Amino acid sequence: MFKHPKSIISLFLISLILISCNCNKEKTATNTTFELTTDKNKKPKNIILLIGDGMGLSQVSASLFYNDEVSNFERFPVIGLSKTSSSSDLITDSASGATAFASGIKTYNGALGVNTDTTSVKNIVEEVSVKGIATGIISTSSIVHATPAAFYTHTKSRSMYEDIASQLVSSDIDFFAGGGTTFFNDRRDGKNLIKALEQQGFAMNTEKLHPNTAPIFPKKQGYLLAPDGMPKMVEGRGDFLSDATKLALANLSKNEEGFFLMIEGSQIDWGGHDNDANYLITELLDFDKTIGVVLDFAKQNGETLVIVTADHETGGFTLASDERGDYNNIKPVFSTDGHSATMVPVFAEGPESSIFGGIYENTAIYTKIKSLFLE
Ligand code: MG
Ligand code: ZN
Repeated sequence: MFKHPKSIISLFLISLILISCNCNKEKTATNTTFELTTDKNKKPKNIILLIGDGMGLSQVSASLFYNDEVSNFERFPVIGLSKTSSSSDLITDSASGATAFASGIKTYNGALGVNTDTTSVKNIVEEVSVKGIATGIISTSSIVHATPAAFYTHTKSRSMYEDIASQLVSSDIDFFAGGGTTFFNDRRDGKNLIKALEQQGFAMNTEKLHPNTAPIFPKKQGYLLAPDGMPKMVEGRGDFLSDATKLALANLSKNEEGFFLMIEGSQIDWGGHDNDANYLITELLDFDKTIGVVLDFAKQNGETLVIVTADHETGGFTLASDERGDYNNIKPVFSTDGHSATMVPVFAEGPESSIFGGIYENTAIYTKIKSLFLE
């Protein structure tokens, strides 16, 4: 069949090999240049953890159905599921849930930063601070409430609010915003911890967020803007959560070693406990809006990993059809006024976000963050 002399076939093959060699070289060279500029496997410089307290998948779904705009949850390329049980209970509370994120341990309900035998376990804020990484916490509850407190306190019971407040003064936190003045300046021991925070180098404000975002970092900032929890959205909280987030990002991003920021939408949980769908959804939409602020920052910054998750689901909330069974008419319903054991979603975007895919224990959130910052 072959009519060509052997030599011609050889020449043809050699030239093919030469051509393919050149192509490979070119491809390799292009890939190297590409990886140098946008290396997706590079570890993030900054990590932002957003916690929607009590935010299960039905709550997230509500942000699609009850939103005038496209939900920011739809911007995440990586989704995982977190198993939320604590060491003492199949259904966790927010204290042990947040301790799993902050310290990587399963502990008993009510515990903050302590193990099952009440001994202190280091948290991520303490661990990254010694590396020069700046840290911040923002919450729509009081700043001494379980979720934010897990990032700076070691306390055997979440209800020891005044003790928790004392521990914030001596913590490594560089920026905080939330409610809770009562626990700092109206205390049984008569101490004024707002003054103590100022002595620790904090610019404190108990009236309002700083009106412009011109950074004052490395000076530390603290905002305590309500006696206890912040007002509900339906009572006029306004843009506190997204504005405090902008302020934190403007300041913490000035730190050359990077930053860790925790932002909590606390009252999604409280709407669930109250079985009040309007309360829940308005808090959820406020959280969704704040996610948008964070994702916009991360997109521009290019070195920031964004993680959004929940400590547990609250309310056994679901989006059912109305009483007549009309599938074109959603009625939000609750099956409990407490928490539930259902898995909660994890959303991730940014450098190394792919490690957040899959099903894992809530403690893995800590392990993954720590591996990106410290290993
Ligand atoms: Mg909370
Ligand atoms: Zn709760």
